[in-house]
Amino acid sequence: MFRPNAFAKVAGPAAILLAVGWTIWLWPAHFLWVYPASGALFLWFSWSGEREIKYIFLFLVTAAGFILPKLSPAGDSPALMAGAVAEVLCLWLLFYALSRAETSRQAARERAEEAEAAAAEKVRNLEDELARYRLHLDSTLARIRDKGALSSAIHDMGAAAAPDEVKARLEALLRKYFPGAAVELRSGAPRDFADHWVAERKIPLLVRNSETDTRFSRGLFAAAERSFMALPLYLFGNLVGFVRASAPEPDRFKSEDLRGAELACTLAGVSMENIYLFEKVNELAIKDGLTGLYTHRAFQSRLEEEILRAARSKVPFSMIMADIDHFKSYNDNFGHQAGDAVLKAVAETFSAGVRDIDFASRYGGEEFALVITGATRAQAAAAAEGMRLALEARSFTFNGKPSRVTASFGVAEFPADGAAAGQLVRAADERLYRAKESGRNRVVAQ
Ligand code: GH3
Ligand code: MG
Ligand code: MG
Repeated sequence: MFRPNAFAKVAGPAAILLAVGWTIWLWPAHFLWVYPASGALFLWFSWSGEREIKYIFLFLVTAAGFILPKLSPAGDSPALMAGAVAEVLCLWLLFYALSRAETSRQAARERAEEAEAAAAEKVRNLEDELARYRLHLDSTLARIRDKGALSSAIHDMGAAAAPDEVKARLEALLRKYFPGAAVELRSGAPRDFADHWVAERKIPLLVRNSETDTRFSRGLFAAAERSFMALPLYLFGNLVGFVRASAPEPDRFKSEDLRGAELACTLAGVSMENIYLFEKVNELAIKDGLTGLYTHRAFQSRLEEEILRAARSKVPFSMIMADIDHFKSYNDNFGHQAGDAVLKAVAETFSAGVRDIDFASRYGGEEFALVITGATRAQAAAAAEGMRLALEARSFTFNGKPSRVTASFGVAEFPADGAAAGQLVRAADERLYRAKESGRNRVVAQ
């Protein structure tokens, strides 16, 4: 639409005013059509301007409607005056109609703008909400990933066989959790202020920013320790060490991280306790799990007791060392389970071959040590021979094929072949070796 500029806004109406005045002056008879035409043109010009300008133009047009007919030579004609008044009224009506139209257009525009603003606000809110949701989703996914890593780490730590392995896995876990951070495991008594702080309070320490922390003086921390954590390591309720993590940037560790690290330390402690307990149980066990015979440890203490008793009573006793012949081949040919079955069967044979007062043990792998109480070497050799024959007579079936198992025996007598436990075992072992050397499946007693 045509929009007059500032100059045209003034110059246009002024030119029209001049032309109208001049025309009516020259041809007063044409007033009744020149005036409304020019008046309407006037109003149209004024329309793009301010509200006040419109009213000023309306006033000018109204004044012109009353003054111009009077100024013209035919001025006083009542018909002209009546026409002029009617035309002024019409122009007023036009003005009113235009104003109404504009007001309603304006109102519609404002309503549209308001609706647009409301929609934009809604979009902004939705975008904010979406951003918050994405953030939440990311952190939830990260937490799920962390939990997955933690659970596999727990599994890992639980599977460790030695305390040092647990420590290495704990260190690896923390390094994985805090990439780029320095992680250190310290065993033993507290060494510095942080260890002492943790040891005294029995809680982990978290320093978010060592330069602004009010609990410690700044000089205590190294430059690379802006963020710092120290946690206690417990074993059976005793403080046995410290885990420390540090990073050169502040706010690296959150309280959530501290809780995660604390959990990992507790798990490491529990894993180490398990290992110690397992070792202890194994150490204390006197019966072998596979064969049901006494263990090596039980054999050693029984041998010591027997030596003391024999020394006191001056009644000799003997011991037998036995080893299954070519045992490896059962494992190799028929598998470990078949090997275990042979071990059990041999153990049964030996148990049945000794008296209740005697003592049969699994010395190691597929070696057996037996104490024959109050027996001479010859008596023990006879017992060994009985066991050898009994074993030889047993039939085994491997993979559907019948097979035989034999063993070799070495016999030694206390105190004739050795006055100390070690000596006696060595003598029996040496004879066992000779039994193997000379063709296996035999008893060597001298
Ligand atoms: P030799 O006649 O000279 O005694 O030959 P060998 O094959 O019996 O001797 P060696 O000492 O070389 O083999 C012992 C094997 O016993 C090796 C090991 O795999 C196996 N072994 C040790 N303990 C167990 C066990 O508890 N179960 C099974 N299945 N095998 C075992
Ligand atoms: Mg063997
Ligand atoms: Mg062996």
